[in-house]
Amino acid sequence: MSQLLEPKSLKKSKKYPLLKLEIIPTVGYEQVIKVTEPQIGLHAYIAIHNTKLGPALGGTRIFPYANPTAAIEDALRLSKGMTYKSAIAGVGLGGGKSVIIADPKKDKTPDLLMAFGEAVELLGGQYICAEDVGCSTEDVKTIRQATKYVVGLPHAKSSGDPGFFTAWGVFRGIQSVSKKLFGKDDLTGVKVAVQGLGNVGHNLINYLFWAGAELILSDIDSVALQKFAKKYGAKTVAPDQILSTECDILAPCAMGGILNEKTIPQLRCKGIAGGANNQLLRDADGEMLRIRGILYAPDFVINAGGLLNVAAELEEEGYCPVRSRNQCHQIYDTLLSIYEIADKNKESTNKAAISLGDYRTQFGVGKRARPLVFHHTPA
Ligand code: NAD
Repeated sequence: MSQLLEPKSLKKSKKYPLLKLEIIPTVGYEQVIKVTEPQIGLHAYIAIHNTKLGPALGGTRIFPYANPTAAIEDALRLSKGMTYKSAIAGVGLGGGKSVIIADPKKDKTPDLLMAFGEAVELLGGQYICAEDVGCSTEDVKTIRQATKYVVGLPHAKSSGDPGFFTAWGVFRGIQSVSKKLFGKDDLTGVKVAVQGLGNVGHNLINYLFWAGAELILSDIDSVALQKFAKKYGAKTVAPDQILSTECDILAPCAMGGILNEKTIPQLRCKGIAGGANNQLLRDADGEMLRIRGILYAPDFVINAGGLLNVAAELEEEGYCPVRSRNQCHQIYDTLLSIYEIADKNKESTNKAAISLGDYRTQFGVGKRARPLVFHHTPA
């Protein structure tokens, strides 16, 4: 059952008279909106999970979902993750995400992106979009023509590529796992197995190399794998071997859902600290890791570097990479506190992090005090 959103805001869309926004009532979410424009072929969902700490920010994923249910589920899961990520990172933002059902290789037209941008504009700033899987910075630039509620644009005042900030946060997270497990931040000789050598993974292995770690690498792209193995003198393993590789720390930097009841018994690592989103298939898998004695750095805490970087764009003083770097450093301390809380309560680190996020959201800890400033060049 869906209902039409505020007809008065719909009237504002002069350029796209067929643009329709419908609310899909969803328990546990502030607003889930279906966006359609039949002539253009736009079919999207915007999920706003929670805005208690500030407006919801989250990327726009463009993907050829098999059906609308799969698209909604992805938007719900990812927007909730953003609430926790933002709450713990202390950026004064809420959790949101949008998905467009389309093949990014074939279906991305300027009209599709701009009609979607118009829908974001009609929400009046409750939701701020950004790049994501299938949605490049160039696409974000097109969306910007229809809305100001967008970050990560390719202009001088923008934060640019989030990958190397995310990777630095993950590096600090790996140090926190080493500190907890081995009593030292120094990664000399620590064996780290990295799954996925994309934007996050390849920056991470550079930091790890210079920190003296012993690297084991894997990627489905064999050309990239061989290139990085040669560059860093690293060992390689096949994609189906990486999770069961014997190592000190496993760093998943590819896809989600890889830690589950099938894979967890096969793990031969002492800790897990990587950049991939939604690494646990279910929250209960965090407990399974605890029972196996594997220390897990919750993904939505360790991979907040990209968010910290992009959120800095919205401050009055404008983007400053030094400030973002310093905030990424703190991921180390945040994770150590989470391990401590988990130990004290005899619970998984994932559960401890969720409780921390819930607490901060419920009691307004880190709530946005200053208005957001969009330092855009004209659309
Ligand atoms: P990317 O697309 O640049 O890289 C992903 C890499 O993983 C690619 O090289 C791909 O070939 C490889 N890969 C895919 N399946 C694999 C498999 N089964 N085994 C081994 N390698 C595999 O993506 P990215 O930007 O590096 O992001 C990686 C992960 O981190 C994603 O889950 C993303 O959601 C998450 N993340 C990224 C950022 C960021 O700043 N880019 C921020 C937060 C979270």
